[in-house]
Amino acid sequence: MSDFDYDLFVIGGGSGGVRAARIAATHGARVGIAEEYRYGGTCVIRGCVPKKLFVYASKFSEEFEDAEGFGWSVGERSFAWDKLIAAKDQEITRLEGIYRRNLDNTGVEIHDSRAVIEDAHTVRLLSTGQTITAKYILVAVGASPNVDNSLPGGEHVITSNEAFHLSELPNRVVVAGGGYIAVEFAGIFNGLGVDTTLIYRGPEILRGFDMDLRRTVREEMEKKGIKVVLNDTFSSIEKQSDGSLIGRTNGGENLAADQIMFAIGRSPHTRELGLEKAGVETDAIGAIKVNEESRTNVESIYAVGDVTNRANLTPVAIREGHAFADTVFGNKPWTVDHSLIATAVFSQPEMGTVGLTQEEALERTPNLDIYKSSFRPMKHTLSGRDEKMLMKMIVDADSQKVLGVHIVGPDAGELAQILGITLEMGATKADFDRTIAVHPTAAEELVTMREPTERLRG
Ligand SMILES: Cc1cc2nc3c(=O)[nH]c(=O)nc-3n(C[C@H](O)[C@H](O)[C@H](O)COP(=O)(O)OP(=O)(O)OC[C@H]3O[C@@H](n4cnc5c(N)ncnc54)[C@H](O)[C@@H]3O)c2cc1C
Repeated sequence: MSDFDYDLFVIGGGSGGVRAARIAATHGARVGIAEEYRYGGTCVIRGCVPKKLFVYASKFSEEFEDAEGFGWSVGERSFAWDKLIAAKDQEITRLEGIYRRNLDNTGVEIHDSRAVIEDAHTVRLLSTGQTITAKYILVAVGASPNVDNSLPGGEHVITSNEAFHLSELPNRVVVAGGGYIAVEFAGIFNGLGVDTTLIYRGPEILRGFDMDLRRTVREEMEKKGIKVVLNDTFSSIEKQSDGSLIGRTNGGENLAADQIMFAIGRSPHTRELGLEKAGVETDAIGAIKVNEESRTNVESIYAVGDVTNRANLTPVAIREGHAFADTVFGNKPWTVDHSLIATAVFSQPEMGTVGLTQEEALERTPNLDIYKSSFRPMKHTLSGRDEKMLMKMIVDADSQKVLGVHIVGPDAGELAQILGITLEMGATKADFDRTIAVHPTAAEELVTMREPTERLRG
């Protein structure tokens, strides 16, 4: 029996922390975990899950319209925001219960408290003042949304945290930001009938993704009625006497809104966590520096998930937590490969992507074959909707290895998951060509693109 209260103490009951705690406990470790808000963390409580539920809700407006092309007459429609919020809250509470039960069932001791680090083996629970010792500490505290404190009137804006709890659906929203959270929320509000503007400081939304997809998503969003303002930022936000807001921009726009939501990035949640007391190193934005085993510079302290700012996605945090627990407590060492991560953006239309963008691929080799197909999805031949689907495949011209596949259109996220497997296996263009199409689907385009649309040669 060691002198420590626990073999492992986990700070943060989100995606990475909960997985690590459960796996460590199943390996026989004595584990405690602390969560300052709600178990399940960002993804379950105020991230992926409620966001996707909102996306579903927002898509019905187009579904009703599209149905008419197929002979349906849809009667008068109305939408009740309070019903959506109540249903969403009920589901989140159910999931939170599952998270707590799963921890409990594996013997993990649950603490409902903020925890801070006192030294390399000690944490303190702020709710009780109790200090707890552990052989290992895992920091899995995630990240929180950035706000711009220097912006005059910045106190009037909301972030994604508040967007999930608005007491009423605003008539007009401005979303600031160009990343996936901003783009997804612009689509949600627009689909729910809100007059929506997206303002982004860069020349194109969704930085980091393939340029063809970025442009396509933005153009399709504009067709759906979202006003997109690029190369511009707020200079001030003013509250009017009726409670509404005016966002003044450096480009001279005056954007009237009932809510202004900032989605301008997220920062690791490391402030006042006591990391300096244990000597844990962080980088310029406060992310904890770790090696490939997720160990910090302090032998007994590890960190996983968004707090390490590697790839800030739930499945990645879960993998990192799992690998940590197997390695340290299960005598089964392994590390997470961050080089190939399939992912989706639940924009409208949706985006699914895996592997290198054209821009990234060009940095590796100048010889690329690009296959691109843009077409109207079959459903819209009858619905009449003017919406394009885009598929793009990037192939190394010398080895014929598929380096990246990028899709905009219905179910693109679902396709990205399967494409992730093919790219993990090192598929070549010939492997795709050999595969018989599934007809009639949009995905069959992936195995029927015969000739490159572009041959890039260095
Ligand atoms: C709006 C939104 C949509 C998203 N959509 C997606 C998506 O579609 N797909 C996807 O893969 N990812 C998505 N993400 C990202 C995903 O939520 C995160 O990558 C993931 O939750 C990271 O897991 P984590 O364990 O690192 O941290 P978190 O899940 O954030 O968990 C950290 C937990 O630690 C707690 N905590 C913090 N400090 C302390 C402390 N000192 N003591 C005790 N507890 C503490 C927090 O309350 C939190 O519950 C989304 C995020 C947001 C905000």
